[in-house]
This record gives sequence, structure tokens and C-alpha cells, in this order.
Amino acid sequence: MSAPRDWDSLGFALNPTAHMFVAETDSTQGAWPAGSLRPFGDLTISPAAGVLNYGQGIFEGLKAMRNQQGEILLFRPWENAKRFQQGAESLCMPAVPMDYFLQAITAVVKANHQFVPPYGKGSLYLRPCLWGTGEILGVGPAPAYTFVVYASPVGAYYKQGLKPIRVLVSDDYHRAAPLGVGHVKCIGNYAGTLLSLKAAKAQGYEGCVYLDAKHSRYVEEVGTANFFCIQDGVLYTPKLGSILPGITRDSIIHLAKTEFQMPVQEIDIPVEQVQRADEAFCVGTAAVVTPIGAIAYRDQITTFQGGAVGPLTQRFYARLTAIQQGDAPDPFAWVMKVD
Ligand SMILES: *Cc1c(COP(=O)(O)O)cnc(C)c1O
Repeated sequence: MSAPRDWDSLGFALNPTAHMFVAETDSTQGAWPAGSLRPFGDLTISPAAGVLNYGQGIFEGLKAMRNQQGEILLFRPWENAKRFQQGAESLCMPAVPMDYFLQAITAVVKANHQFVPPYGKGSLYLRPCLWGTGEILGVGPAPAYTFVVYASPVGAYYKQGLKPIRVLVSDDYHRAAPLGVGHVKCIGNYAGTLLSLKAAKAQGYEGCVYLDAKHSRYVEEVGTANFFCIQDGVLYTPKLGSILPGITRDSIIHLAKTEFQMPVQEIDIPVEQVQRADEAFCVGTAAVVTPIGAIAYRDQITTFQGGAVGPLTQRFYARLTAIQQGDAPDPFAWVMKVD
């Protein structure tokens, strides 16, 4: 398998790479035998696998990208490793040790280095997965597990500068319940958002904003990205609970507090407060920092910055991506070099 030559045509679609990492354990406690790199391809799985029947599975997403010198960088991969461990525990799966996780993703990056796009042309998206692959008929933890890391080159998210999106507040569907698994990157959280996203797209919106399931009043997140808004120089973001604790979210909060001298409020944000905001944006590994140009709630459409990119949104984007691609000093030691 050869690396793509036309880096500019890459979007966020699967472009398989040469190698993936696979490890299997029949321990439900967490002893992980050495895994191995093998050619990317299909896995054999029983129809009675726990993951297929009862959704016992989690995933991660992170990007490897090149700096101007051509070296390959990962952004805060320790945080992905930690979240992956916590997710495994939430779903009664044997946790993958941090070092093991980091060695596996590093091995996948190295084995597929020719698929890491040149500086500025995108990244190699890494997808670690943990599935209950053992057979089980009654509901219960599967007797065996598979840890896989595969990769795909993806394009730069913004080829011509930041582009604000229009989002619709979902009034008919919630993403996650209090005391549920909304904070876990578990596979079962995503299929349930497809119908509301489809409805939003049919109405001309690019994303769905979910409200909290208890009051149906407070903004939770935007599909697969965390929500932020800014009013009078204060940065607001929904507090942790049923939302996914994003690593990009944490990084933005950190930049706001330490470098931008902005007060940060992690609170319940009613939709009406969002409608009064000066700027809004959402963040995630895939979405980076995506400005929200307009938000629709019931029959009210609110436009931010006349639909243009807000100045602070632009600043967050510039600062975050400069650190991620190695263009600026990394005062928080967020970047790991793969060598
Ligand atoms: C992965 C994800 C995010 C973003 O998390 P990052 O760690 O920043 O990539 C936000 N919301 C949901 C639901 C997610 O699955």
C-alpha cells in the first residue's frame, strides 16, 4: 500500500494505512500480552461478541502531525491514554496501561510514517479502540478483549481559513443522561445522535447542539465537540458531568486562564445565555476550533459576529494550532515528539 500523493484532496474520510496494532487478552482483569503490528485489514469476530451485541466498546481519537522540520508530533497523548483507561473501567473492560497505550500508538505512527502528511497538509488520525470481542449471550462483561489502533491520513480541517458553522439546538433528542455514560467515549453514544443530526442537516445546519437531559435547558455539547461561548470577555463552557471531557476543551480553558487572562466559568449555560453571547465556538481533536456563526433554537436564530469569525475564537485557534504543529514554544509540555 502506498501513501497518498495528493495530500490536498484529503478530507475526514478513511484512507487506510499499511499497518495496524492488535492485541488480545482473555483476562477480564487487565493483563495485556504483547500485541503486534500487522497489515491493516479485516478482523475475525464472533457474532456473539459482547461488543456487537451489547456495545461494550470505547474509542479514542488523536492526530499525529509534522512540524516544519518534518518531525512527527502528538498532542497530549497521555490524556488520551488516561481517558481510555477510565473508559475501560466504566464499561467493565480490562484497562490498557498508559505506557502500553503510548507504545502502541507510537508504533503505529512509526510503521505508517509515510502516511503522515507534510507540514500544514493535515495529519495522521489515530483511532485506538477497545472492544469486548469474547462471546457472551447473557448481558455481562465479555470473556475476552481486543485492543486495536488503526490510522488514517486526514486533511487539514481548514484549507481556506476558519469557516463558521450553523448549528441547531436539538429539542427532540438528548445525547446523554445524568449519571449515564455521556462522559465516556463509548461507541454506544454515537448512533443515537445520527437521527437528530440528519434532521438538522436536512434543515441546512451543519451540527446539532444537545441540551441536558434533566431540564432540557442547559447546553451540553455539539455532537462530537465541546461548546464554548464568550460574553463581555468571559469564557463560558458547560461544566463536566454528562459531557465528554475533551482534551481540546481542557487546553482552551488552560490557554484562557494562563495566557489570555480571561476569566473562565465552567457552569450550566442556559440556551438563553448563549443567545446573548458575543462569540461561540466548539472544539475537539477533529473539529480543532470551529466558530459557530449561528445557532437556531425553536423559531429563533441567533447570529454571532454577523456570521463571521469572532476575534477571540480566531486567537484561540491560532494559539492552539501553533502549539500543536510545533510553530510556537510549548510552555505546558503538551507536545510529544515521535522519534
Ligand atoms: C471526542 C469527543 C469530544 C472532543 O474531545 P477531544 O479530546 O478534544 O478530542 C467532544 N465530545 C464528544 C462527544 C467526543 O466524543
